Amino acid sequence: MSDRFIDDLRGALPQGAVLTGADIDARYHHDMSGNPVPKPRAVVRPKTTEQVSALLRLCHREKVPVTTQGGMTGLVRGALPNADEIVLSMELMNAIEEVDISTGVVIAQAGAVLQKLQERVEQDGFMFPLDLGARGSCTIGGNISTNAGGNRVIRYGMTRELVLGLEVVKADGTVLHGLRKYIKNNTGVDLKHLFIGSEGILGVVTRAALRIFPAPAERQVALCALPSFPHVAALLRLARKHLGGALTAFEVMWNEYYRLTIERVKGVTGPLPTHHPFYVLFEASGGDAERIQADIERLLELAMGEGLILDATISTSHASAAALWRIRDSSVELGRTLAPRAGFDVSLAIDRMEAYALALDKALKQVDGASFAVVFGHAGDGNLHVTVRYTDGPDRHHQVEELVYGITGQFGGSVSAEHGIGILKRPYLKMSRTEDEIETMRALKRALDPHRILNPGRIFTM
Ligand code: ZN
Repeated sequence: MSDRFIDDLRGALPQGAVLTGADIDARYHHDMSGNPVPKPRAVVRPKTTEQVSALLRLCHREKVPVTTQGGMTGLVRGALPNADEIVLSMELMNAIEEVDISTGVVIAQAGAVLQKLQERVEQDGFMFPLDLGARGSCTIGGNISTNAGGNRVIRYGMTRELVLGLEVVKADGTVLHGLRKYIKNNTGVDLKHLFIGSEGILGVVTRAALRIFPAPAERQVALCALPSFPHVAALLRLARKHLGGALTAFEVMWNEYYRLTIERVKGVTGPLPTHHPFYVLFEASGGDAERIQADIERLLELAMGEGLILDATISTSHASAAALWRIRDSSVELGRTLAPRAGFDVSLAIDRMEAYALALDKALKQVDGASFAVVFGHAGDGNLHVTVRYTDGPDRHHQVEELVYGITGQFGGSVSAEHGIGILKRPYLKMSRTEDEIETMRALKRALDPHRILNPGRIFTM
């Protein structure tokens, strides 16, 4: 990248939009992985869609690659700049432009922080149901480009289900004006889906029209202890039957997750003893507080009667509900206490989860007797998170990855349920997608970004 290009950038964008040298803060080359990369040559912080367009027009012409950044909370090294890439930070395009309560739509810029958007729509009595542990720093643009999942997918679906329209800047600077507010729109190829979950390789999302829902008056959380995994699956069936649409989360924790979180994460307390084999946290919400309360109590009674659960506790206030959620939301803090470790995010059928975890444990012990797996996740969505604590050794991390993905493949699972592929999971994409599918992705990349300037090398190489 030439000095002339940096001059051209400064010429094309307003004063202060282009940062170089000592003005580039560490946050632009650090992410959740904890393995920072060298400082990029330039960071560009546009304030408008037109400025994003001007930037990409220039990069397209000069064939300069760009990494688009949101809140830097990704786990697959998708947003760290590679050498020779400049950074496009969306952090100054963070406005929540409109809350339309008659249609149930919020319009936000890509750099808006998820929690800020949640809080803004709450002021009007609405909720934006996407929710995940990184809510305080992840951005709407990042949520869209990774098709974020999180805690309420069982009721509201992934981010894809919440997006009504997008404004996107293509690699050559063309702006696609698709910021529509309606659900029904059968007018040819639905282009927004190309940009949701494709990790920024096909275009840069600048604004989004998102669905919001009337906020439930009541939200109650229960934590249960269970004797075995088949009991977990049976409790899920029972909860679906008795709570129906009021069931808004169903999270499972193997003993190690619950016990170690209570033991190691500061400020987390466990209302149930730590010796039970499995724990489930479920949430019910709705407009009628008394009915929610009665439905949960009835469900727990039935579950007790059928011997599905050994022990249970129900939230009695917002504070106690938050304290229960805190246990499940502490996975990042727990992960830090498990180093050296490898993290996984897999999808598989719920009836195979127990055998999968057992097979994993057996295979790990054969390679490294002191290793163990901490398993938890969104049981209602068929999504498990696995953290493997291993003994350090040459090539051990790679060995653990090969082993876990190998077993995931044997069980017919997906190598990424919600974290995406980025660069870290690229070698394993072929275990979940066919060669023809990956070649079709490459064809889309060639068509939309012929000079490969947008997040090159993420998901697949050309
Ligand atoms: Zn998750």
